[in-house]
Amino acid sequence: MCAEKRCRIGVVGGGVSGSTVALKLAEMGYQVQLFEEGPSLVNGPPACHLHAGGNLYREISDEQCLKLLQQSIDTYRLYPHAINLRPTVIAVPKSDQGQTFNLLPRLQKLQKFYAELVDRDPANKLLGDVDQYYKVYSHEKMDELAQKEQPDPPVTLDDWMIPVAKSVNLDDFKTDFIMVQEYGLSLFRASAAISLALGSLDSCKVFTSTHVNSLQFDKDSKQWVIQTQSNGEKSSYEVDYLVNACGYRTGTLDDYAGFKRQRMVEFKSAYIARWPKFDGVWPEIIFHGVRGTSEGMGSLTPYCNGYFQLHGMTEDITLFKGGLVSSCQSSSQPKLCNKLQGKLSTGWKQEDVIERTKSAIDHIARLVPSFATAEVGGRPMYGAQQIPGTDPSLRIADVSFEGDNYARTEIVKWSSALTVANKIADHLESSGFQPFEQKVVGSYSDAITAIPHEKVVELAEKIAVERNYPPELAQDYL
Ligand SMILES: Cc1cc2nc3c(=O)[nH]c(=O)nc-3n(C[C@H](O)[C@H](O)[C@H](O)COP(=O)(O)OP(=O)(O)OC[C@H]3O[C@@H](n4cnc5c(N)ncnc54)[C@H](O)[C@@H]3O)c2cc1C
Repeated sequence: MCAEKRCRIGVVGGGVSGSTVALKLAEMGYQVQLFEEGPSLVNGPPACHLHAGGNLYREISDEQCLKLLQQSIDTYRLYPHAINLRPTVIAVPKSDQGQTFNLLPRLQKLQKFYAELVDRDPANKLLGDVDQYYKVYSHEKMDELAQKEQPDPPVTLDDWMIPVAKSVNLDDFKTDFIMVQEYGLSLFRASAAISLALGSLDSCKVFTSTHVNSLQFDKDSKQWVIQTQSNGEKSSYEVDYLVNACGYRTGTLDDYAGFKRQRMVEFKSAYIARWPKFDGVWPEIIFHGVRGTSEGMGSLTPYCNGYFQLHGMTEDITLFKGGLVSSCQSSSQPKLCNKLQGKLSTGWKQEDVIERTKSAIDHIARLVPSFATAEVGGRPMYGAQQIPGTDPSLRIADVSFEGDNYARTEIVKWSSALTVANKIADHLESSGFQPFEQKVVGSYSDAITAIPHEKVVELAEKIAVERNYPPELAQDYL
């Protein structure tokens, strides 16, 4: 260990959790090395919902929803470039057992908590006026809105509801619709903003296209030795503190280090459709439905120029047979079957892309009939994610520690990444590790705030194209 426990940190995995930790610690004055095997940062599974209130998940506890609201506001403040500003409509189809009014007590709690967060710090007022956090729409009101022209740009919640009111058949739905200020996330703008911010910090060295293939703990020096391979070249790095941020492969590093941890891994996919006949500026729509059944929840997430991202919680669309696996006694790394592992390592067959995207389009067209004219718009956005423990419906998780110099990030949703970074900063302090240079930092990131938004969008479009996605997915929605 270096004198006075001044600490060099190795972060393995440059997804949103590893990158956020690297950003936080580098801004605090720690020397950070970030290792990512992909060609660019934040290239893991997708994210399109900010989940500011968790209203997509009626099955989770109110406590998790409140936490999601708070963490989402923090994420917005940390990564303002990545937010797609559009509300979300919650619709309960007639085929579903649920009732819209059952969602109201939770929404009232969320609204009250949002008011408290705004009272605590007016800069938290990012989801619109507190009394407009959500609004309930009767069928009569939907009929009235269907007769109106949508202003461009839409401003009020009613303006946003107009294209939905014009496109759905009200007879297919239970009584009311709800609109809530849950916004979207842009994976590509987050990737761009993080890359530019980390690139501006001397205290962080980013190694992309660098695979970590072994890890040893030296008991004498109390350092971790990280072995890497990059373009056929082997290297090794010694660090005082290790952050395992390998996403669904966190278990491989736990195995290298000899730590046992129970977790699940789930493979899922979203699909990209192009709807040439789209009309209006759409909000997101969530159609409630029981996960895993043919009527499973569907979501229609808008991007620019008629592109939409689709989820359908059925085994023919977003979920996969054998897609949820657990760790075992002999390994902390859950193992997916060869077919799904093959999708992760070598991609998809074109016929699977077409078949599943068409199923996703049909799933949404049950409830938005004109969406049947949508076409396959790009390759799926897919990946595997970890869920610590044994509860597959867990949505709030952050970080766990082994001893005083090993942390593993275990987020399920993006919004937990800043909580992880803050907890690791506290752990470093309580373990007596000091930065090389003490810097006063705020709660968010000066390096991110300093980047001009146009620069972020420009790089984000480039990243989208490099990953074979339409650049529209990287553009500001409004
Ligand atoms: C279909 C789908 C939709 C989703 N939608 C949302 C959403 O709308 N909103 C939301 O909040 N969340 C969503 N999620 C979850 C979200 O994507 C994950 O929570 C998030 O990506 C986890 O971030 P992470 O940084 O922990 O892991 P990852 O993003 O998986 O990052 C881990 C990184 O580690 C790297 N790595 C792994 N092993 C090594 C190694 N040995 N050496 C070097 N690098 C290594 C990987 O290349 C990867 O880049 C979705 C997930 C899926 C699958």
